[in-house]
Amino acid sequence: MKGTTKLLNPGPVTLTDRVRKAFDAEDVCHREQEFADLVKRVMGKLARVYPEADGAYVPVLLTGSGTAAVEAMLGSLTPRDGKTLVVSNGVYGERAAAILEAQGKAFTMLKSASWLDGIDLAGAEAALAAGGYTHVFTVHHETTTGRLNDVDAIGALCKKHGVPLLLDAVSSFGGERIRFDEWNLEACAATANKCLHGVPGICFALVRESAFESKKTGSSSVYLDLFRYRQEQKNGFSPFTQSVQAMFALQEALRELADGGGWEKRHAHYRTLTAHVMSGLAEMGIEILLESPKAYSSILTSYHLPPNMKYEALHDTLKQKGFVIYAGQGKFSGSIFRIAVMGDLGRGDVDRLLGEIRVLREAR
Ligand SMILES: *Cc1c(COP(=O)(O)O)cnc(C)c1O
Repeated sequence: MKGTTKLLNPGPVTLTDRVRKAFDAEDVCHREQEFADLVKRVMGKLARVYPEADGAYVPVLLTGSGTAAVEAMLGSLTPRDGKTLVVSNGVYGERAAAILEAQGKAFTMLKSASWLDGIDLAGAEAALAAGGYTHVFTVHHETTTGRLNDVDAIGALCKKHGVPLLLDAVSSFGGERIRFDEWNLEACAATANKCLHGVPGICFALVRESAFESKKTGSSSVYLDLFRYRQEQKNGFSPFTQSVQAMFALQEALRELADGGGWEKRHAHYRTLTAHVMSGLAEMGIEILLESPKAYSSILTSYHLPPNMKYEALHDTLKQKGFVIYAGQGKFSGSIFRIAVMGDLGRGDVDRLLGEIRVLREAR
């Protein structure tokens, strides 16, 4: 039956019925006016998710997963002879560096000592004071651990030194606060199927419009060139085939977000669910990975696997009960598990999840 599995991985999310129905839409050609009109409506709604961005920032919609948006943002907006400071404390910061490497662009990798640490603010301050950077890149919500990075601090440094910030907001857009002017944000990359609760297939960058006027594309990619998309999407059209059904679903997901009171209400909902997960697991003696509950986003938390519990056993048992949890990546694989609360998920679902984990704990 549809909708009986609850996805607790960081996207794709469990769809609401409303979004699922929208996906089952009329067949439309992406070169017809009605599709262009749909795209323009979606662009308008995306621009208004954060009202303070509306007017100064424009969404550019691509077909692809979140990484496509990050790759397009870095490829198009960093100049070919520029240099980016990549401030990283996890898988997604490292992925951005790999993207710049593949694009043959200069960058400095500023890695925290461990993925358990916050981003290196002192290192960033020193690097920016020394100069020579055309952009700073960091990850807003580092999904590797669930840490909400201190972008207020990095953004303030960008503002102070006059260096534009490029942000991976793939797992935070629609669920956490984003400050545009204060962070000197040139663009952020995001996706339909995380906090926005759409289906996978569409990603986007929200870009300061003046970036398109004041410079030319740095892209060596034909497919992932934001400048070319922006030019054609002014009229709702795109250079290449878009994921038509996913666009209908995103429109409905954005309506649902607005009907529910916008990102701040969704954030509060996530916060409540996450606090419930965290306290329920703490009662069972399952400890968080990071130093404090405050280090986490509202969206995803990470836990040490108890000594007598294998990830596969936990995952497989919960899956049979209709819950898909998420493993650790890279050096955390096999030692942690993660729980995200995006999508169609309520307090009763979390109660059921905790009940199942309790049964497993007591069976040991
Ligand atoms: C999910 C995610 C991405 C993109 O992953 P895709 O699998 O390409 O959608 C990028 N950055 C962060 C922080 C993410 O959580």
